[in-house]
Amino acid sequence: MPHDLPKAYDPTAIEDHWAEYWVRENLFAVEAPGPNGAIPASSASADAASASPASGCPDGQSAFTILLPPPNVTGRLHMGHMLNQTEMDILTRWRRMSGRKALWLPGTDHAGIATQMMVERQLEGEGKKRQDLGREAFVERVWEWKRHYGGAILDQMKRLGASVDWHREYFTMDDNLSVAVREAFVRLHDQGLIYRGAYIVNWCPRCQTAISDLEVVHDEQKGHLWEIRYPVIGPAGGELSGEFLTVATTRPETMLGDVAVAIHPADERYKHLHGKKLRLPLMGREIPIILDEWVSLDFGTGAVKVTPAHDPNDFALGERHHLPSINIMDDTGKINAAGGSFAGLDRYAARKKVVAELEELGLLAGIKDHTNNVGHCDRCKTVVEPRLSTQWFIKIEPLAEKARQAVREKHIKFTPEMYEKTYFEWMDNIHDWCISRQLWWGHRIPAWHCADCHKITVARVDPTACQHCGSAKITQETDVLDTWFSSGLLPVSVFGWPNVTAENRNDFDAFYPTSVLVTGFDILFFWVARMIMMGCWFAADVPMPDGSPRTLADSVPFREVYIHALVRDANREKMSKTKGNVVDPIEIVRQYGTDAVRFTLASMASPGTDIAFNVARTEGYRAFANKIWNAARFLFMNVDRAAELGITVDPTALGSIPVVGSGDSDFARWIWAEFHQTARQVDVSLTNYRYDDAANTIYQFFWGSFCDKSVEFAKVRLDFSEGADRTKTKAVLTTLLQVFEATLRLLSPFMPFLTEELWHAVYDGNPPAKSIALASYPVVHTEQYDLVVGGAFADGVQVRMKYSWDLIGDVLSKRKESGVPEKESVPVVIHAVPVALGAFTANVDVISKMAHVSTFEFSDSDLEGPEVFRNFGFYSGKIVYERTVDVAAETDRLNKDIARYEKGIAAAERQLGNPGFLAKAPANVVEGLKRQEAETRLLLDKAREALAALPTE
Ligand SMILES: [Zn+2]
Ligand SMILES: [Zn+2]
Repeated sequence: MPHDLPKAYDPTAIEDHWAEYWVRENLFAVEAPGPNGAIPASSASADAASASPASGCPDGQSAFTILLPPPNVTGRLHMGHMLNQTEMDILTRWRRMSGRKALWLPGTDHAGIATQMMVERQLEGEGKKRQDLGREAFVERVWEWKRHYGGAILDQMKRLGASVDWHREYFTMDDNLSVAVREAFVRLHDQGLIYRGAYIVNWCPRCQTAISDLEVVHDEQKGHLWEIRYPVIGPAGGELSGEFLTVATTRPETMLGDVAVAIHPADERYKHLHGKKLRLPLMGREIPIILDEWVSLDFGTGAVKVTPAHDPNDFALGERHHLPSINIMDDTGKINAAGGSFAGLDRYAARKKVVAELEELGLLAGIKDHTNNVGHCDRCKTVVEPRLSTQWFIKIEPLAEKARQAVREKHIKFTPEMYEKTYFEWMDNIHDWCISRQLWWGHRIPAWHCADCHKITVARVDPTACQHCGSAKITQETDVLDTWFSSGLLPVSVFGWPNVTAENRNDFDAFYPTSVLVTGFDILFFWVARMIMMGCWFAADVPMPDGSPRTLADSVPFREVYIHALVRDANREKMSKTKGNVVDPIEIVRQYGTDAVRFTLASMASPGTDIAFNVARTEGYRAFANKIWNAARFLFMNVDRAAELGITVDPTALGSIPVVGSGDSDFARWIWAEFHQTARQVDVSLTNYRYDDAANTIYQFFWGSFCDKSVEFAKVRLDFSEGADRTKTKAVLTTLLQVFEATLRLLSPFMPFLTEELWHAVYDGNPPAKSIALASYPVVHTEQYDLVVGGAFADGVQVRMKYSWDLIGDVLSKRKESGVPEKESVPVVIHAVPVALGAFTANVDVISKMAHVSTFEFSDSDLEGPEVFRNFGFYSGKIVYERTVDVAAETDRLNKDIARYEKGIAAAERQLGNPGFLAKAPANVVEGLKRQEAETRLLLDKAREALAALPTE
C-alpha cells in the first residue's frame, strides 16, 4: 500500500523512478494546437475553489514558451547549467500548474569548432588527420560521433527531471532547421545584406579558421618590443641618405609584409621626413612614409610600421591611404612565398630569424620588455593571428537598428535591468558580422563560384549552372556558417519558419514570440543579441494569424530576458579546474538528491547576485526533505489509524482549497491563512524572478507553520480514545491532509521528485492526474488571510494564533532557563488583554501539552518581577517552579562544564594564534572557529555565574 512509505527518505530511489516515468509517459509534451489557433486547455485538474490562476498571463498569451539555450552536443552538465535549468524548470512547472500551456523546448547545438576538434583528436589517436579522410568522409565521421556520444548532456537533464517536451528535441543541423538556415542566407543575400570581402579576422592557425572577436580570450603576457631601424632613401631616390627611422613592434616577423611607415603629421621629430621613402630591411622594397593622425605620438618611437594584412588598425590605415595588402602567412601560421627567404618557416621561427638577421645588419636599435595583451583561441588556446582573408559578412546595420528599437520600445524586458545598458553599449558599436568559418562541420554556405565569369550564384536549391553566364563550371563555397548563425535563428526556425503557411502555422502562432529566455551573461552578445536581430528581421515577414502585418512588438523572439548569475564556490571564488574547486552537479546530486541541490540553488537565486554554493546548505535542504517525509509518515499513520475506527477523510476534499469562515476552528482558519499568505508571496516572488524569496517562504511555511506547529498541534487534537468527539478528530485530520496536499503542489516546482512521490501517496496511489506537475497550482485568496488595511486587521485569526505560539515559546524558554526537567509539568500564571486571553482559552489544551503546563491561573493585573516574561501590550506571565537543587551534584556538573569550556577556548586560541594555520585555512573555517570561541566564552560565563549562585550550605 502506497501509504506505507519506507521509513527513511532515499532520494536516489525516488528520483530514478520518477525521472524515468516522466519521460516514458511523455508528460510534458505539448500537442500542436488546433488549426484555428485555439490552444486546448491545459490538462491541469481544476481547483475547486479557484476562479482563475492568481498569476494571470502577464504577457497576454495563453502559452508559456521557453527555449533551452542549446548546450553544445559535446557538452557535459556543469553547475551553471544546473542553475540555469533549475530556474527554467521552476518557471515552466509553475506556469504549467497555473493553467498555462507550457512548452519548454530542448535541443543541442552542432558547435562547429568544438565538435570538429573532438573528432580531430579522435583521428589523431589513429595517427590520421581530417585531410586524410577528405571532407565527405570526415563529416560522416562527425555524424557517427554525434550518434554515439552526442546528447549525453540531455540524458543528464532527463535524470534531473527537467520538464521539457522531449518530443520536440532538435539538433541545429536537423533538416528542417537547415532549411531555415539556407533560407535566411539566401534572403539576406537577395536583400543585399550579405557580402564577401577581404577583412582582418582573428585566425586560429590550429583550427585553421576565422573565429569571432567573442571567441578570442585575451591574456596579459610578458613579451618584447623590438625597435628596428628602417633606412631613409635620399632625395635623389634609390640611394640611402644614411638616416634611419626607427619603428617599434611586438611582432617583428610581420615586417615582411610592411607597405608603409606612418607618423603623426604634427610630430616635430619627423617633419623633415614628410614625403620621403624608406628601404624595407630584409625585403629591399621601397615603402612610403605616410602621415596619419591616428598614430600616437607617445607610443614607441612615434613611427608605426604598416602591415595591412596582419593588423586591424593597419588594415584601416591601408584603406585610408590606398595601400596594397601583402599577406605573408598561410593558414597554418607559416610564412608563405610573399615572405621571401623566410618562406616555409613557422611564425615564431621566422620571428627569431628576422631578429637575428636585423641584428647582424645593425638594424636592431633595441629590445625592451613589454607586457602584451595576446589573443588566444577560446577553443584550443593557440595564439590567434590577425590576418587578412576573404570572408562572408552580414551587413549588420539594418538588422541591428531594428533590434535596438525592439529593446528601446520595451518590447523586450531585461532582468536585471542593467543588462539593457550593456546590450546597447554593444549594439551601438557593432561591426559587420563575419559569418564564414573555414571548417568542415556545419552548414555549408549555399554559394557557388563560377570558373568562367568568376561571379557567385546563391540559391535555395543546389544549382547546376552559373546564373550569370550559364557555365556548368561551378563549385560550391567550401566555408561553413558560424554556429551562431543557426542558433540565432532558433526562435523562428523551431516553430516552422520559413514554412509558416496557412496550413502549417499552428506552432508559430501558438508559441512565437517565446515568453522568456533564461541564460547566462557570457552569451549575451554571441546569442541573445543575434536572436533579437534575426528574430525581429525574419518574423516581421510572417503575418499575424488574422492576416494583418506583424508589428515589431510581435516580431521579437522573446518578451523577457532573464540573465542569471554565476555559481561560485562556498568562498565566493570562481569555480575553475586549475583551482580544483569545481563542484560537479552529478556528484552532489548523487549524495544529496536532485531536490536538495535544486532547492539550494533556488534558495540563493536572485537577479544580479552570484551564488556561493555551499554543501552545508544542501545538507540542510536534504534535512528539509526528510522533515517533509516524516510529516507525511505521521499523517498517513493517523489516516490509517482513523480508518480503523471508521473515520475516513473524503478523498474529494483533497486537491482543492476550502474557503474557511467563522464556522471553522481557529486552527483551520489560521493554517489556511498562513498558507494563502505563503502562496501569495511565492506568486509575487516568482513573477519577479526572486527564486530565493519564493523558496525561503515555502521553506518557512512547511517547516515552521506546518511541521513544527500544525503537526504538533494535531498530536494534541487528534483524539482516538473512546468517547472522543470523532467529528473534531475528522475535521483536524482533513485540514491537515488538505494543507499537506496543497503545500506539496506549492513546493512541487522546486522539489519535483519528493512532491511527486508523496502526492501519489496522499491519494493512496489513485491520484486525480498522472503527475502532480499536471495538477493545479494553489490559488491565492487574499481575503483568507489577515490584511493590514487602514491599520486594522481584517480578521485576527493569524494574530490570535500567533499569541498562542508565542506563549508556548515563552514558556518553553523560561522552563529551560529555570532548569525545569523536560517531562515535568508546571503551573503558569498569565495576565493578558482580551484578544490574547481569548486565544489562550481556545487553545488551552494545545498550549498545555506543547509547553508542558499543568494549570493556568489568569491574573487580573500585570505581572512584575525578574522571572516574568512578556509580550508587550498583550500579555505577561511566569512559571511557578521551586527549584530543588542537589547542590553537590550541581556543583560537580558545573565544574565539569567549566573545565570543558576552558579546554575548548585554549585549543581555539592556540589555533587562532598559529600563523601557519591562519595562512592555510579557508576564511570560512577561521570565521567559524572565532564564532565558536566567542560562543564558548558566553557559556563559560554563564556556568561560572550559575556556580556562584548556588546556595552554600
Ligand atoms: Zn583554435
Ligand atoms: Zn559564370
